[in-house]
Amino acid sequence: MTKHLFDRLEEIYPEMVDFRRDLHMYPELSHQEVKTPEKIAAFLRELGIEVETGIGGRGVVGRLEGGKPGRTVALRADFDALPIQEENEVDYASRIPGVMHACGHDLHTATLLGVAKVLSERRDEVPGTVLFVHQFAEEATPGGAKSMIEDGCLGGADVIYGAHVMAGEELGTAKVRPGYFSSAQDDFFITIHGKGGHGSEPHLTVDPLVTGSQLVVNLQQIVSRRVSPQSAAAVTVGSFVSGGATNVIPDKAVIKGTVRTYDAHSRAVIQQAMEQIVRSTCEAAGAEVELEYVQDCPSIWNDPEETKKVDKKAAALFGEEKVNRTEPMMGSEDFAFYQQSLPGVYFTIGGKIAESGEAYPHHHPKFQVDERAMINIGKMFIELVCK
Ligand code: MN
Repeated sequence: MTKHLFDRLEEIYPEMVDFRRDLHMYPELSHQEVKTPEKIAAFLRELGIEVETGIGGRGVVGRLEGGKPGRTVALRADFDALPIQEENEVDYASRIPGVMHACGHDLHTATLLGVAKVLSERRDEVPGTVLFVHQFAEEATPGGAKSMIEDGCLGGADVIYGAHVMAGEELGTAKVRPGYFSSAQDDFFITIHGKGGHGSEPHLTVDPLVTGSQLVVNLQQIVSRRVSPQSAAAVTVGSFVSGGATNVIPDKAVIKGTVRTYDAHSRAVIQQAMEQIVRSTCEAAGAEVELEYVQDCPSIWNDPEETKKVDKKAAALFGEEKVNRTEPMMGSEDFAFYQQSLPGVYFTIGGKIAESGEAYPHHHPKFQVDERAMINIGKMFIELVCK
């Protein structure tokens, strides 16, 4: 039933490539997207799709009423870029210094527009309603999903699907999994206030460097001794800044890091343990401390029933052995917020450039993906709408 839609998708693929490359040349950072949402809205309007802009800030949502009865399906693509200087030598490399589509969100956007084009041309065959949810600021904290939801971007949707291209996974493969699919992300910011002084007279100071060092070590006990070994979790200190001279004991130290978990229980255990360890370590040293603990994004939890459908489609499209159902990602994705109000499935699609050997990871200045992944994501979306 969807064969002719697939054919049409292949036919308009060059147009998707053009759109993607234009976004790639003119990337925009999270919360600074201006031209990108304009281009998306213009493309959707051209198709005769009802469009709303400025959703939750900079989001764009297109609404296509199909000609047959059915449920309302939301398809989500993100469109922000990263503060990275591109090092690829391609003719469509970023023209904006220090900004790059280094995660593939340009492909996601062009794919969803391609799907919108194919479905809008065959509106009569489309069951129910399709919402094209174009999200800004996925890379930022807070991301765009939350404010778009608060602004009503899901307007009556029964289910939501989202997909991410993966540079390290082979073209023609998919990763689909019920339950947890990405980790929750929290970030912490610790400022230790000691008492500075001369390096030759440490007994007259409260050294935030020594206290901070102890704290970094003590935090390692959280995952090893507080979280159940049955649960996956990571507590990572990513930054420790203090001092600057050989002979000066500084006044303060600033420590920052991130926490990743899947289940809500471990997430709560970690926050509680961190508050306790930070307080007690600094108190023992006679230092004052401030802890800011920010709950950013919950974990993606794929609805089991809906995941069965996605899995079946992926196996039919790519072959049973091309569907990876093993481990979830440890990264975080604000797609998780949509799933708090309705069932949803997030899956990944391979986009590795075959001849490239080891692929550069996402968020790398040489990140690249095979653009044909757009066809595979597009086919999945079409199937999920038209099933
Ligand atoms: Mn991404």
